[in-house]
Amino acid sequence: MASISLRNVVKRYGKGPKANQVIHGVNAEIQDGEFIVIVGPSGCGKSTLLRMVAGLEEISGGEIAIGARVVNDLEPAERDIAMVFQNYALYPHMSVFENMAYGLKIAKVPVAEIKQRVDKAAAILELGHLLARKPRELSGGQRQRVAMGRAIVRQPQVFLFDEPLSNLDAKLRSQTRLEIQKLHRELGITSLFVTHDQVEAMTLAQRMIVMNGGVMEQFGTPEEMYHRP
Ligand code: ADP
Ligand code: ADP
Repeated sequence: MASISLRNVVKRYGKGPKANQVIHGVNAEIQDGEFIVIVGPSGCGKSTLLRMVAGLEEISGGEIAIGARVVNDLEPAERDIAMVFQNYALYPHMSVFENMAYGLKIAKVPVAEIKQRVDKAAAILELGHLLARKPRELSGGQRQRVAMGRAIVRQPQVFLFDEPLSNLDAKLRSQTRLEIQKLHRELGITSLFVTHDQVEAMTLAQRMIVMNGGVMEQFGTPEEMYHRP
């Protein structure tokens, strides 16, 4: 677990006079273990902000720290984060176990430790009885949980969610939302969750960052937002 500090974070796409500034000096101190939702209309910069924390976009100005460490110049793999995307592509020819173990195998984690980490993630996600199955033998909800399992086994300090619910039907969306809440209750990992859906934001957030036109307009609890004029 770790805190996240956004210090006057700026993003420009392009260089020189044609540069387009899309994030205008965002400041936020996120505490260890908090579940933060970044919400706002399409094009307001939510995804860009998240991708800068992930190391998928360069930071044009200011500083992002995870824990005590400024990460501006660190590769994604060095940042101790795990990202959960919108489209959960599992490897079709691999079992559930192999899907969850794959990243660790690449990172040369010892076999015994891989097994231990996968078993622990499977227990949290109630996938223990499905480890030998292939993705095509799973329901949509189960596949979703395998994708989350792949993030959990990395034991990151921070989870980054990029609109993970937006392509799901209503039933699977509420199922997955509950799953994410349970995950946060049990592991308490600092989380940044991006959505354009205000109701989803209100439901999930401990605190929410409201973005508009690249500016952070509000940062507070859903209660504070609701009562503010
Ligand atoms: P959101 O996630 O809130 O929909 P984005 O972060 O995707 O918003 O985009 C913020 C702004 O930055 C938009 O105006 C978008 O067109 C622009 N933008 C995003 N990615 C790029 C890119 N790779 N190159 C140039 N402009 C980009
Ligand atoms: P999302 O909803 O995830 O932001 P988008 O369709 O807006 O998806 O963007 C898809 C990809 O295209 C992202 O990697 C984003 O950075 C990039 N992108 C978005 N807007 C622009 C843009 N104006 N110019 C170039 N790339 C862009």
